[in-house]
Amino acid sequence: MKLFDAHCHLQDDLLFPDLGNVLERAAAAGVERIVVCGTSPDDWAQVLQCPKKEKYALTLSVGIHPWFCSEHCHSLRSLPHHDSDEASLASLGWKENFQTLEEMVRADATGEKGAPMLSVGIGECGLDFSERFKNRAEQEECFAAHLDLARELNRPVTVHCVQAWGRLIEILREHPAPKIVLHAFGGAVELIPELSELNCWFSFCGNVTNPNAKRVRAAAVAVPAERLLIETDSPDFPPAGCEAPNEPANLIVVARAVAELRGVSVEEIAELTFTNASHVFRV
Ligand SMILES: [Zn+2]
Ligand SMILES: [Zn+2]
Repeated sequence: MKLFDAHCHLQDDLLFPDLGNVLERAAAAGVERIVVCGTSPDDWAQVLQCPKKEKYALTLSVGIHPWFCSEHCHSLRSLPHHDSDEASLASLGWKENFQTLEEMVRADATGEKGAPMLSVGIGECGLDFSERFKNRAEQEECFAAHLDLARELNRPVTVHCVQAWGRLIEILREHPAPKIVLHAFGGAVELIPELSELNCWFSFCGNVTNPNAKRVRAAAVAVPAERLLIETDSPDFPPAGCEAPNEPANLIVVARAVAELRGVSVEEIAELTFTNASHVFRV
């Protein structure tokens, strides 16, 4: 049985220093492909160092996460725990950072600037309208820029969406993209048909193992088979029974939970999500 982890952050300081072992354990657990998503200029360099482990089939993706689109360089882990940092979310310019991203992705697309960096993806980007983030206008603008680039270069785009489903749908209508991965999907079941029409795939992480996550579990049942993906979102959100930090080897626990919810075998979920993810990420 082989598994495809459609979203994680191997560049994170909780995993990167031990990357060799993390990848060995993933391989031993049958995780044959992994998408590594960058979130800010601060971690792109580390993302791009991941493919040096050539033995492992990593797919790289670079984006500006909605948490970081207002600031210059902020690591993924430094912000959410510091609510007082909101004030520092002044406009230091995501546009400048996006320009760098665009150059990297274009260079990869055309093979310019030396060897292609093997990044096939755009994102993690998106919208997070949780209370603590006040930069909604900038988030929307930054997200739309990612979608436009994804359309132009025909790249899959990985999207983070929290409490912003209405605006997400409006923006996807205005800025259509060919393949959109809604990672750690937390939207309502009712949204799935409309989002599917807008070229979205739906990826589920460790929170499907939580019996209280009723909305997520209902969605994991309702998503059409051909649009279903699974991920660890590691190092965050360890599935039930797994220790922190989370890592790709734990993907089997997510696969089992989704299989149980859908009333099919784990082998079926593994094969289905592997096929779907291979299609989306063109690998
Ligand atoms: Zn996310
Ligand atoms: Zn993520």
